[in-house]
Amino acid sequence: MSGDLTGKTAVVTGAARGIGRACAIAFAADGADLMLVDITRNLPGVPYPLGSRSQLDYTAELCRGHGVSVLTQAVDVRALNEIKTAVDATHERFGRVDVLLNNAGIVAPSGKLAHEIGEDEWQLMIDVDLSGAWRAIAATGRIMMTQRSGSIINVASTAGLVGYSRFAGYVAAKHGVVGLTKAVALDYAPSGVRVNALCPGSVRDSPEFEGRMLSEIARSLGIDVAEHESVFVQAQPTNALIEPEDVAAAARWLASDDARHVTGTVVTVDGGFTAR
Ligand code: NAD
Repeated sequence: MSGDLTGKTAVVTGAARGIGRACAIAFAADGADLMLVDITRNLPGVPYPLGSRSQLDYTAELCRGHGVSVLTQAVDVRALNEIKTAVDATHERFGRVDVLLNNAGIVAPSGKLAHEIGEDEWQLMIDVDLSGAWRAIAATGRIMMTQRSGSIINVASTAGLVGYSRFAGYVAAKHGVVGLTKAVALDYAPSGVRVNALCPGSVRDSPEFEGRMLSEIARSLGIDVAEHESVFVQAQPTNALIEPEDVAAAARWLASDDARHVTGTVVTVDGGFTAR
Protein backbone atom coordinates (compact mmCIF):
# COMPACT_ATOMS: atom_id res chain seq x y z
CA MET A 1 0.00 0.00 0.00
CA SER A 2 1.41 3.39 -0.84
CA GLY A 3 0.11 6.76 -1.84
CA ASP A 4 1.30 9.99 -3.31
CA LEU A 5 2.45 12.43 -0.63
CA THR A 6 4.14 14.86 -3.01
CA GLY A 7 3.79 18.43 -1.77
CA LYS A 8 2.72 17.24 1.67
CA THR A 9 4.49 17.55 5.00
CA ALA A 10 4.68 14.95 7.75
CA VAL A 11 5.76 15.21 11.40
CA VAL A 12 7.06 11.92 12.83
CA THR A 13 7.70 11.48 16.56
CA GLY A 14 10.15 8.84 17.78
CA ALA A 15 11.81 9.00 14.35
CA ALA A 16 15.37 8.12 15.42
CA ARG A 17 14.94 4.40 14.91
CA GLY A 18 12.59 1.42 14.67
CA ILE A 19 9.07 1.86 13.36
CA GLY A 20 9.46 5.65 13.32
CA ARG A 21 12.47 5.40 11.02
CA ALA A 22 10.70 2.93 8.71
CA CYS A 23 7.64 5.20 8.46
CA ALA A 24 9.76 8.32 7.87
CA ILE A 25 11.55 6.60 4.99
CA ALA A 26 8.23 5.43 3.50
CA PHE A 27 6.78 8.95 3.71
CA ALA A 28 9.93 10.32 2.06
CA ALA A 29 9.72 7.70 -0.69
CA ASP A 30 6.16 8.89 -1.33
CA GLY A 31 7.40 12.50 -1.65
CA ALA A 32 6.61 14.07 1.74
CA ASP A 33 8.82 16.76 3.30
CA LEU A 34 9.50 15.88 6.90
CA MET A 35 9.97 17.09 10.46
CA LEU A 36 11.59 14.23 12.37
CA VAL A 37 11.68 14.46 16.16
CA ASP A 38 12.93 12.25 18.95
CA ILE A 39 13.97 12.65 22.57
CA THR A 40 17.67 12.06 21.65
CA ARG A 41 18.64 11.18 25.23
CA ASN A 42 17.90 8.53 27.81
CA LEU A 43 15.08 8.84 30.32
CA PRO A 44 15.47 8.12 34.04
CA GLY A 45 13.11 5.22 34.78
CA VAL A 46 13.46 3.63 31.34
CA PRO A 47 16.00 0.79 31.68
CA TYR A 48 17.11 0.72 28.04
CA PRO A 49 18.66 3.36 25.79
CA LEU A 50 16.33 5.58 23.77
CA GLY A 51 16.96 7.06 20.35
CA SER A 52 20.11 9.18 20.00
CA ARG A 53 20.89 12.36 18.08
CA SER A 54 23.11 10.40 15.67
CA GLN A 55 20.30 7.89 15.02
CA LEU A 56 17.89 10.76 14.32
CA ASP A 57 20.41 12.35 11.96
CA TYR A 58 20.87 9.01 10.20
CA THR A 59 17.11 8.65 9.66
CA ALA A 60 17.11 12.16 8.20
CA GLU A 61 20.00 11.28 5.86
CA LEU A 62 18.16 8.18 4.61
CA CYS A 63 15.04 10.27 3.95
CA ARG A 64 16.97 13.02 2.12
CA GLY A 65 18.16 10.26 -0.21
CA HIS A 66 14.61 10.35 -1.63
CA GLY A 67 15.03 14.02 -2.58
CA VAL A 68 12.73 15.54 0.06
CA SER A 69 13.44 18.31 2.58
CA VAL A 70 13.95 17.11 6.15
CA LEU A 71 14.07 19.06 9.42
CA THR A 72 15.03 17.46 12.72
CA GLN A 73 14.47 18.56 16.29
CA ALA A 74 15.09 17.15 19.77
CA VAL A 75 11.63 16.83 21.33
CA ASP A 76 10.47 15.10 24.49
CA VAL A 77 6.77 14.40 23.96
CA ARG A 78 6.30 14.94 27.71
CA ALA A 79 6.75 18.67 27.03
CA LEU A 80 3.93 20.44 25.15
CA ASN A 81 6.12 23.46 24.38
CA GLU A 82 8.78 21.26 22.71
CA ILE A 83 6.39 19.46 20.34
CA LYS A 84 4.56 22.74 19.66
CA THR A 85 7.83 24.44 18.70
CA ALA A 86 8.61 21.61 16.26
CA VAL A 87 5.13 21.64 14.69
CA ASP A 88 5.14 25.44 14.38
CA ALA A 89 8.61 25.33 12.76
CA THR A 90 7.27 22.78 10.27
CA HIS A 91 4.32 25.02 9.45
CA GLU A 92 6.57 28.07 9.05
CA ARG A 93 9.01 26.25 6.77
CA PHE A 94 6.60 24.29 4.58
CA GLY A 95 3.35 26.25 4.96
CA ARG A 96 1.36 23.16 5.95
CA VAL A 97 1.27 20.11 8.18
CA ASP A 98 -0.52 17.23 6.46
CA VAL A 99 0.47 14.16 8.45
CA LEU A 100 1.25 13.55 12.12
CA LEU A 101 2.64 10.13 13.01
CA ASN A 102 2.37 9.79 16.78
CA ASN A 103 4.92 7.01 17.18
CA ALA A 104 7.17 7.92 20.14
CA GLY A 105 6.75 5.40 22.92
CA ILE A 106 8.33 3.40 25.69
CA VAL A 107 7.51 -0.14 26.85
CA ALA A 108 9.16 0.04 30.22
CA PRO A 109 8.94 -0.05 33.19
CA SER A 110 7.16 -3.36 32.54
CA GLY A 111 7.23 -7.00 33.56
CA LYS A 112 5.47 -6.33 36.89
CA LEU A 113 2.08 -7.24 38.32
CA ALA A 114 -0.22 -4.21 38.65
CA HIS A 115 0.34 -3.74 42.40
CA GLU A 116 4.13 -3.92 41.94
CA ILE A 117 4.23 -0.88 39.65
CA GLY A 118 5.48 2.26 41.36
CA GLU A 119 3.38 5.40 40.97
CA ASP A 120 6.30 7.15 39.28
CA GLU A 121 6.58 4.24 36.82
CA TRP A 122 2.86 4.36 36.06
CA GLN A 123 2.93 8.14 35.54
CA LEU A 124 5.94 7.90 33.23
CA MET A 125 4.28 5.31 30.99
CA ILE A 126 1.05 7.28 30.69
CA ASP A 127 2.94 10.56 30.24
CA VAL A 128 4.93 9.30 27.25
CA ASP A 129 2.67 6.77 25.53
CA LEU A 130 -0.75 8.37 26.02
CA SER A 131 -0.32 12.02 26.99
CA GLY A 132 2.55 12.38 24.49
CA ALA A 133 0.18 11.47 21.66
CA TRP A 134 -2.41 13.96 22.92
CA ARG A 135 0.25 16.72 23.17
CA ALA A 136 1.28 16.27 19.54
CA ILE A 137 -2.38 16.39 18.51
CA ALA A 138 -2.86 19.53 20.62
CA ALA A 139 0.08 21.12 18.81
CA THR A 140 -1.19 20.15 15.34
CA GLY A 141 -4.99 20.12 15.46
CA ARG A 142 -5.63 23.83 14.90
CA ILE A 143 -3.28 23.94 11.90
CA MET A 144 -4.95 20.92 10.27
CA MET A 145 -8.45 22.21 11.00
CA THR A 146 -7.59 25.58 9.46
CA GLN A 147 -6.19 23.98 6.30
CA ARG A 148 -9.24 21.64 6.36
CA SER A 149 -7.20 18.50 5.76
CA GLY A 150 -4.77 16.24 7.52
CA SER A 151 -4.11 12.69 8.65
CA ILE A 152 -3.16 11.85 12.22
CA ILE A 153 -1.88 8.31 12.75
CA ASN A 154 -1.50 7.15 16.33
CA VAL A 155 0.78 4.14 16.69
CA ALA A 156 -0.94 2.09 19.38
CA SER A 157 -0.37 -1.68 19.60
CA THR A 158 -2.25 -4.94 19.93
CA ALA A 159 -1.81 -3.94 23.59
CA GLY A 160 -4.40 -1.26 22.75
CA LEU A 161 -6.92 -3.99 21.91
CA VAL A 162 -6.26 -6.89 24.29
CA GLY A 163 -4.53 -7.37 27.62
CA TYR A 164 -1.02 -8.67 28.26
CA SER A 165 -0.05 -9.92 31.71
CA ARG A 166 2.66 -7.85 33.44
CA PHE A 167 2.15 -4.88 31.10
CA ALA A 168 -0.72 -3.04 32.83
CA GLY A 169 0.77 0.42 32.28
CA TYR A 170 1.56 -0.15 28.61
CA VAL A 171 -1.80 -1.83 27.95
CA ALA A 172 -3.69 0.97 29.71
CA ALA A 173 -1.77 3.65 27.81
CA LYS A 174 -2.29 1.96 24.43
CA HIS A 175 -6.01 1.36 25.08
CA GLY A 176 -6.09 5.06 25.90
CA VAL A 177 -4.48 5.84 22.54
CA VAL A 178 -7.24 3.89 20.75
CA GLY A 179 -9.90 5.81 22.70
CA LEU A 180 -8.15 9.11 22.02
CA THR A 181 -8.13 8.22 18.32
CA LYS A 182 -11.89 7.64 18.17
CA ALA A 183 -12.78 10.79 20.13
CA VAL A 184 -10.47 13.09 18.16
CA ALA A 185 -11.64 11.56 14.87
CA LEU A 186 -15.15 12.76 15.77
CA ASP A 187 -13.82 16.19 16.82
CA TYR A 188 -12.06 16.73 13.50
CA ALA A 189 -14.20 14.86 10.94
CA PRO A 190 -16.26 17.94 10.04
CA SER A 191 -12.99 19.76 9.23
CA GLY A 192 -11.69 17.07 6.89
CA VAL A 193 -8.99 15.87 9.29
CA ARG A 194 -8.71 12.09 9.70
CA VAL A 195 -7.46 10.31 12.83
CA ASN A 196 -6.66 6.60 12.94
CA ALA A 197 -4.84 4.14 15.16
CA LEU A 198 -2.27 1.66 13.88
CA CYS A 199 -1.88 -1.46 16.00
CA PRO A 200 1.22 -3.53 15.25
CA GLY A 201 1.78 -6.97 16.71
CA SER A 202 5.31 -8.08 17.60
CA VAL A 203 7.67 -6.14 15.36
CA ARG A 204 11.20 -7.38 14.73
CA ASP A 205 14.05 -5.26 16.10
CA SER A 206 15.67 -5.27 12.68
CA PRO A 207 19.33 -4.10 12.64
CA GLU A 208 18.54 -1.87 9.67
CA PHE A 209 16.10 0.19 11.75
CA GLU A 210 17.79 -0.33 15.15
CA GLY A 211 14.47 -0.82 17.01
CA ARG A 212 14.74 -1.83 20.68
CA MET A 213 11.24 -2.59 21.88
CA LEU A 214 10.89 -6.34 21.35
CA SER A 215 14.25 -7.02 23.01
CA GLU A 216 13.16 -4.91 25.98
CA ILE A 217 9.84 -6.77 26.28
CA ALA A 218 11.77 -10.06 26.27
CA ARG A 219 14.22 -8.78 28.88
CA SER A 220 11.44 -7.56 31.19
CA LEU A 221 9.75 -10.97 30.99
CA GLY A 222 13.01 -12.79 31.67
CA ILE A 223 13.02 -14.45 28.23
CA ASP A 224 16.47 -15.32 26.93
CA VAL A 225 17.42 -12.62 24.42
CA ALA A 226 18.78 -15.20 21.97
CA GLU A 227 15.45 -17.04 22.00
CA HIS A 228 13.09 -14.12 22.15
CA GLU A 229 12.34 -13.85 18.43
CA SER A 230 11.16 -17.46 18.22
CA VAL A 231 8.95 -16.95 21.30
CA PHE A 232 7.21 -13.98 19.68
CA VAL A 233 6.99 -15.70 16.29
CA GLN A 234 5.09 -18.60 17.83
CA ALA A 235 2.57 -16.17 19.35
CA GLN A 236 1.50 -14.88 15.93
CA PRO A 237 -0.77 -17.10 13.75
CA THR A 238 1.20 -16.28 10.58
CA ASN A 239 4.32 -17.67 12.29
CA ALA A 240 6.32 -14.58 11.48
CA LEU A 241 7.32 -11.36 13.14
CA ILE A 242 6.04 -8.13 11.66
CA GLU A 243 8.77 -6.13 9.91
CA PRO A 244 8.99 -2.35 10.47
CA GLU A 245 8.29 -1.90 6.73
CA ASP A 246 4.96 -3.74 7.16
CA VAL A 247 3.85 -1.13 9.68
CA ALA A 248 5.17 1.63 7.41
CA ALA A 249 3.10 0.25 4.50
CA ALA A 250 -0.08 0.72 6.52
CA ALA A 251 1.05 4.17 7.72
CA ARG A 252 1.75 5.45 4.20
CA TRP A 253 -1.73 4.33 3.12
CA LEU A 254 -3.41 5.99 6.11
CA ALA A 255 -1.37 9.14 5.41
CA SER A 256 -2.46 9.32 1.78
CA ASP A 257 -5.67 10.48 0.13
CA ASP A 258 -6.28 6.83 -0.84
CA ALA A 259 -7.62 6.52 2.72
CA ARG A 260 -9.76 9.67 2.42
CA HIS A 261 -12.86 8.05 3.95
CA VAL A 262 -10.95 6.18 6.65
CA THR A 263 -11.20 7.83 10.05
CA GLY A 264 -11.78 6.83 13.66
CA THR A 265 -10.69 3.28 12.99
CA VAL A 266 -8.00 0.83 13.98
CA VAL A 267 -5.71 -0.83 11.46
CA THR A 268 -4.04 -3.91 12.89
CA VAL A 269 -0.83 -5.30 11.43
CA ASP A 270 -0.49 -8.29 13.72
CA GLY A 271 -0.33 -11.50 11.68
CA GLY A 272 -3.79 -12.46 12.95
CA PHE A 273 -2.89 -12.21 16.65
CA THR A 274 -6.09 -10.41 17.69
CA ALA A 275 -8.31 -12.63 15.51
CA ARG A 276 -8.24 -15.40 18.11
P1 NAD B 1 11.88 1.88 19.75
O1 NAD B 1 12.13 1.91 21.21
O2 NAD B 1 12.91 1.26 18.88
O3 NAD B 1 11.59 3.35 19.21
C1 NAD B 1 10.82 4.27 19.95
C2 NAD B 1 11.33 5.68 19.70
O4 NAD B 1 10.54 6.59 20.50
C3 NAD B 1 12.80 5.82 20.14
O5 NAD B 1 13.57 6.43 19.13
C4 NAD B 1 12.70 6.70 21.38
O6 NAD B 1 13.83 7.51 21.61
C5 NAD B 1 11.44 7.51 21.11
N1 NAD B 1 10.89 8.07 22.34
C6 NAD B 1 10.67 7.41 23.50
N2 NAD B 1 10.23 8.28 24.45
C7 NAD B 1 10.20 9.50 23.86
C8 NAD B 1 9.82 10.80 24.33
N3 NAD B 1 9.46 11.02 25.59
N4 NAD B 1 9.86 11.83 23.44
C9 NAD B 1 10.25 11.62 22.16
N5 NAD B 1 10.65 10.43 21.68
C10 NAD B 1 10.60 9.37 22.52
O7 NAD B 1 10.47 1.15 19.56
P2 NAD B 1 9.61 0.78 18.24
O8 NAD B 1 9.44 -0.70 18.22
O9 NAD B 1 10.12 1.47 17.04
O10 NAD B 1 8.21 1.40 18.70
C11 NAD B 1 7.63 2.54 18.09
C12 NAD B 1 6.16 2.61 18.48
O11 NAD B 1 5.49 1.42 18.08
C13 NAD B 1 5.92 2.74 19.98
O12 NAD B 1 4.85 3.62 20.23
C14 NAD B 1 5.53 1.32 20.38
O13 NAD B 1 4.75 1.27 21.53
C15 NAD B 1 4.80 0.85 19.15
N6 NAD B 1 4.75 -0.60 18.99
C16 NAD B 1 5.88 -1.35 18.89
C17 NAD B 1 5.79 -2.73 18.74
C18 NAD B 1 7.02 -3.62 18.63
O14 NAD B 1 6.87 -4.85 18.67
N7 NAD B 1 8.20 -3.08 18.45
C19 NAD B 1 4.54 -3.34 18.69
C20 NAD B 1 3.40 -2.54 18.80
C21 NAD B 1 3.52 -1.17 18.94
